[in-house]
Amino acid sequence: MSQGFSTRAVHAGAAPDPVTGSRAQPIHQTSSFVFKDADHASKLFALQEFGDIYTRIGNPTCSALEARIADLEGGAMGVATASGHAAQLLAFHVLMAPGCKIVAAKQLYGGSVNQLSHAFKKFGWSVEFVDTGDLAAVEAAMDDTVRVVYTESVANPGGGITDMAAIADIAHRHGVPYMVDNTMASPYLCRPLEHGADIVVHSLTKFIGGHGNSIGGMIIDGGRFDWKAAGDKFPTLTEPQSFYNDLVFSDGFGALPLGPDGAEIDIAFAIAARAFSLRDLGPALSPFNAFMIMTGCETLPLRMDKHCQNARAVAAFLKTHDKVSWVRYAGLPDDEQYELAQKYCPKGTGGVFTFGLKGGHAAGVKLVASVALFSHLANIGDTRSLIIHPSSTTHSQLSEDAKAAAGAAPDTVRLSVGIEDAADIIADLSQALDQI
Ligand SMILES: *Cc1c(COP(=O)(O)O)cnc(C)c1O
Repeated sequence: MSQGFSTRAVHAGAAPDPVTGSRAQPIHQTSSFVFKDADHASKLFALQEFGDIYTRIGNPTCSALEARIADLEGGAMGVATASGHAAQLLAFHVLMAPGCKIVAAKQLYGGSVNQLSHAFKKFGWSVEFVDTGDLAAVEAAMDDTVRVVYTESVANPGGGITDMAAIADIAHRHGVPYMVDNTMASPYLCRPLEHGADIVVHSLTKFIGGHGNSIGGMIIDGGRFDWKAAGDKFPTLTEPQSFYNDLVFSDGFGALPLGPDGAEIDIAFAIAARAFSLRDLGPALSPFNAFMIMTGCETLPLRMDKHCQNARAVAAFLKTHDKVSWVRYAGLPDDEQYELAQKYCPKGTGGVFTFGLKGGHAAGVKLVASVALFSHLANIGDTRSLIIHPSSTTHSQLSEDAKAAAGAAPDTVRLSVGIEDAADIIADLSQALDQI
């Protein structure tokens, strides 16, 4: 019988160490692993046997974290990476080639907009940003060069909820996978694979690690996309790979008996992300960070409930404040996205949301200078309450139109509400608003 989420958040991927009996996940702080013999070594290199070779490609502490997050997301296999950005880079690297296009949400996190529109351009990958709240616009962007549709489940910083089932439907009708950044919601609040997504990526830096102390990322292969049915769109997965004895990944890893009770699962995408992209591009997660993030993950359900509860209270307080012009939190019953939020995030929409100040840009700058309990910084998902004025920081490089589209207009302030006492969080905002 499958166990509940909180049980799996503590136990998935981490049995007691069979050699030492160590109950906590050991940190395998080693760069490389001794081969049993020459035959073992050659099988590992040919992908005929799974095992660790070198920590850039895999490490047992990172594997434990990969198994845990894949389990929590309901995916087939995870690949840990050095950061959320590295997870995006590696996932796109499997799917893309020069001349191919990503259809991505305009509402993406500002750092992701930068990565997709500037860094990826040098690879010859193009991107078309669309308002994913407008399904006709998504449909209109689909052409033969598209290889993937990419959105967040809950958008950072705008807080908008993506209608994932509808977007998945469009991607699938055009024969391409749908990839979702589930950083803001975490698998406790939302599991995109249950709503049609094929691949999930995370910045583990945020709610999953949860304590603002470690950078990390994760790719989760949902194991359901039919790569062969997409024709010649994904040669990395469907054509013989000379480096690996002409292995075709979608054949070799398309139906392995690794699921519960020996069920067959497709891990071709995850293996390619590791065996090509991680191996050759190199942004591996450190075992120490994997340990920190696993420890954080154990309290994910407790923390997310508290983040949601506090965020609801803070949003309700701001709604009635005379210096606040609007509050955008889909967890409030009168929000225009409340129904969509109930469908995708019934337990709550998380700790991050935005609101507008009547005083515009200047008021935003004054507010972040006046808080005391809140930390003014560029992060979300910490136990501590965090505040930022996106227009003057994370989104400052975007045009006014792009800022507005991303939910980062000049009057907008983003909060990542922590797990302190709600009364203290509200008192701090109240005194800071008084100073405007
Ligand atoms: C922070 C963040 C990222 C990037 O993750 P890093 O770990 O900082 O590289 C990607 N997506 C979202 C939604 C984020 O909040």
